[in-house]
Amino acid sequence: MAEAGAKRSKKTVAVGKMYRIIDPSATIASHLDGKSVEERIEECGRICYKTEDKITGMSAIGFGRKMVVDMHNSVLEMAVVTYHVLAMGDVRKLREVSKYVVIDEYEEGYLITGSIRAFREAYMLCPQDTLIKGLVHAVAKRHPIFFEDMVLGGDNRMEQLIEKVELNMLDGEIRASSPKLWRRHRFVAVKFIVNRAVTHELVRHRPCAFLQESQRYCNYGQDRFDRLVTFIKPLFFPKGTPEYSEWLRSVRFSAKQYLKLLETSSPQAARTVLINSCKTEIIVFCNIVQWNHILHMRTSPAAEPSMREVMIPLQAQMRELFSGESFDKRSPEGFLVSKEEAEVEA
Ligand SMILES: Cc1cc2nc3c(=O)[nH]c(=O)nc-3n(C[C@H](O)[C@H](O)[C@H](O)COP(=O)(O)OP(=O)(O)OC[C@H]3O[C@@H](n4cnc5c(N)ncnc54)[C@H](O)[C@@H]3O)c2cc1C
Repeated sequence: MAEAGAKRSKKTVAVGKMYRIIDPSATIASHLDGKSVEERIEECGRICYKTEDKITGMSAIGFGRKMVVDMHNSVLEMAVVTYHVLAMGDVRKLREVSKYVVIDEYEEGYLITGSIRAFREAYMLCPQDTLIKGLVHAVAKRHPIFFEDMVLGGDNRMEQLIEKVELNMLDGEIRASSPKLWRRHRFVAVKFIVNRAVTHELVRHRPCAFLQESQRYCNYGQDRFDRLVTFIKPLFFPKGTPEYSEWLRSVRFSAKQYLKLLETSSPQAARTVLINSCKTEIIVFCNIVQWNHILHMRTSPAAEPSMREVMIPLQAQMRELFSGESFDKRSPEGFLVSKEEAEVEA
């Protein structure tokens, strides 16, 4: 029996090829750093629906507003902004209400980095706090569409004391003077195209923000997916071996059953027959400290081989983009101050 509420599709099951097989990959999404907050939120958010083709020069504002109205809050985690607060003050409330805002002492004040979501929620929880109010005013001034549902009030005593820190300053002056600060405040997005077993492991890294292709929203029986289900080539079974043939048999059966179920059921019901090899796109967004931790754990010989298959090349990409950084430090052990460093600092 069809799932309750599912729409009956008029399409028939595809005859002939029902699947495609592709290689996995992991790519640093550096191009997002050159985009506006609104544009990067749209580009990341659309991965869930696979509607990147709908991006136009004008679509980011409408998309961002919709995410706020629909309370699709995890999409608002995909862009962070950094501020320099030019005075020492009370950061206790901000620390208390958000563990997702990075706060460090910096040049007689503070360096503060957070996502649109983190600032929105800090203000919802504590609108009276002078620092939180000042920061949210600063973010809302540049990115008003994300704060249209909030009453911010006119009184902003912090305005003169809050300066936006641009990315080139973070990567230049701040990295040069304090690599430790830079590692905490510099966030990097990576797009993975991997199988569903690998995404399941990736999302265990709790301090990160994630957005992934949704098997609930995406209907691979539609023309825009060429009516094909995509699978990731298995690392374990080389083409031409009996094991590869067995694997391919499962792929064919899984795709066939999925497309058949779509005739009477929704994608969320039909997806229950998709195997772990099914292709999934996922964006992982976190700071350099976390990338060190993830790459240390996931390139180790103990890690799952399909994970290592994408993480080892990613580690090389990271080292090339941010030269001098090992991307092999487990957190927090890898960041422990050595006895020698401690003596120098003392
Ligand atoms: C080789 C290997 C084998 C694995 N085997 C299994 C397995 O059999 N079963 C299984 O369930 N998982 C397994 N995992 C997943 C593993 O247990 C972790 O969930 C995953 O690697 C995320 O790493 P993490 O816990 O170090 O930290 P992350 O989630 O990446 O967190 C980073 C940091 O945040 C802090 N943190 C986050 N949340 C908390 C919290 N609630 N309390 C305290 N500190 C916190 C910690 O300081 C931590 O160092 C395996 C992973 C690997 C690499």
